[in-house]
Formats: sequence, structure tokens, C-alpha cells
Amino acid sequence: MDQVTAPIFDIQRFSLHDGPGIRTLVFFKGCNLHCAWCQNPESQDVEPLVAFYTDRCNRSFDFLKACPREAINRDGFRIDYAKCDNCLACVEACSQNALRLIGEHMTPEHLFTSLMADLPYYRSSGGGVTFSGGEPTLYPKFIDQMLNLCGEEGIHTAIETCGTYSPDRWQPILNKLGLIYFDLKIIDSERHIKATGRDNKQILSNARRLVEQGLPVEFRVPLVDGYTDNHEDLQDITNFVKELKQSHIHLLSYHNMGESKIDIINGSQNTLGLKTYDACRYREIKEWFSSQDIKIFDE
Ligand code: SF4
Ligand code: SF4
Repeated sequence: MDQVTAPIFDIQRFSLHDGPGIRTLVFFKGCNLHCAWCQNPESQDVEPLVAFYTDRCNRSFDFLKACPREAINRDGFRIDYAKCDNCLACVEACSQNALRLIGEHMTPEHLFTSLMADLPYYRSSGGGVTFSGGEPTLYPKFIDQMLNLCGEEGIHTAIETCGTYSPDRWQPILNKLGLIYFDLKIIDSERHIKATGRDNKQILSNARRLVEQGLPVEFRVPLVDGYTDNHEDLQDITNFVKELKQSHIHLLSYHNMGESKIDIINGSQNTLGLKTYDACRYREIKEWFSSQDIKIFDE
């Protein structure tokens, strides 16, 4: 039988967000949405790839000679991914760490061993592990095995999902999670397709189902200027949240750090040219939800 693996592109330790206590965030590579405002554009493709951080490059170009496939374009600071086979010769040759592999296939056992270094912090703070991305639900077997391993140690687990998963495949796995963060981006189907590349029928159905089953779900709404924060959008979210009888939601303010990451992977995503979400507008929206009897979780 093939060994189960999943591509992980980052592990962030000692986070005080994304769940109770001190947490380790595990970021999976690959996503089935393409949100216009994605803050992790390097996470969207499933396959690991070499990123080129031009701001670190001292222009000595030592790594050019190292590439056996002539896959690096010196002038454009670009990697031709059609030629690159991830041999990592350039990564090893670059003294400035200007080239870095994003994503590494790991087994559940390998990841779990790495997470166990943080076990004392989980124990002392009531913390645990949060699976994020990208979209972690692309890897049901992997997450299922991780949940079994964490369960044996009594480690709290959470997941952050855009909600596009198959409910039948995921049902037994969802039952093992301590907390499910579920994104509600846009309720209007046409506008959702335009902003994310996919309709939201499955997402809304999965949201209803989680609530019906009494699973520990918290909904999160991204605030992106002109994409998710129009009055109609906020009213739609309010109606949906009330239909689900939820008293609280999270608001996630857009920040523009993702834009600088598009270049490192030759990304085709257009930059939105937006600033980090305005703090006054955030407060207005928070108050507006409050006037609708919907509270905002403290971040
Ligand atoms: S990973 Fe290998 S093939 Fe790809 S750009 Fe670097 S040296 Fe060339
Ligand atoms: S769901 Fe998240 S990771 Fe996927 S494209 Fe949207 S913002 Fe990016």
C-alpha cells in the first residue's frame, strides 16, 4: 500500500491565534478555490515548487551554473516551471537563500514527530494543532491519521477550511476535530464564482450540515474592500448566520502581504492594489453586526 503523504509548506509554532492555548499551525499546500485576495498565493498549487526571492538576491547568480535544466531566467528573475524538476541544485548553490523550496511531502508520522516537540506547551496552555492552508481538506487520509495520532496524546485539534470538501468522505473525520473554522466568503453564488472561481453550493450545504450535527464550528468572514464588504454581502452573511442560529462570527481583515508573494512563484494572480483593511471600517462593520445581534469573537 502507498504511504500517505501530504505537501506541507509551513509549520508555525507558538501561535496564540487559530484555536485555544498555544498552537502549532500546519499549512497544507493546494487549494480548490482561487480567491482574488488570497494571502497565500504560493499555497494554491498542490505541487511543491522553488520560489525565487529577488529581494534576497545579491546578483552574483552562482545558482545559474548549478541548474542542469537551464530553468532559471536571470533577467526576469523567473523560474520556468515547465523545465524545473525540483532537483534543488540551485537552492543548495545560492549563498543568499534567495531560492527556497515551497512545500515538502511529509508522512503523518514525520509531521507528528515534529509536532511532539511542542507537547509541553500544549499541555500547559490547553493548546494544540491547527491544520490550515491552502485547503487541508484536500488530504482526508493524512488528516485522519494525524487526528488519530493527536487523539492518542490528548492533543486538541482544529482545522481551517473553505468548506469545499465532500461531506460523506469527511463526516467521520470531522467528528474527531476539536474545532472547525469555516470560511463564509460571499453568499451570492454569482459573486462567489467571480471572486473565487467556484460556486458556493457545496460550501453553504456543508455549513448547514455542520450546525445541524452540532459539531464545534465557528464561522469566519474575510473583509476585503469591495469584494466581501458591500452592504448586500454583509446583509447576506447576517441572514445566513441567523438561519444557522449562530450568535458569533470571526471577522478576518484583509492584509496585503500576499501580494509580494505572487512574484516569487511567477504567479498569474492579479494584484488587487488594496491596502490592509481599514481599522475604522472594521469597527463600523463590527458595530453593524452587533446591531443585528451578531457578536464578533475576540481575536
Ligand atoms: S530546482 Fe533544479 S531544475 Fe529547478 S531551477 Fe533549481 S536547479 Fe534548476
Ligand atoms: S481558500 Fe484560502 S488558500 Fe484558497 S485561494 Fe482562497 S484565500 Fe487562498
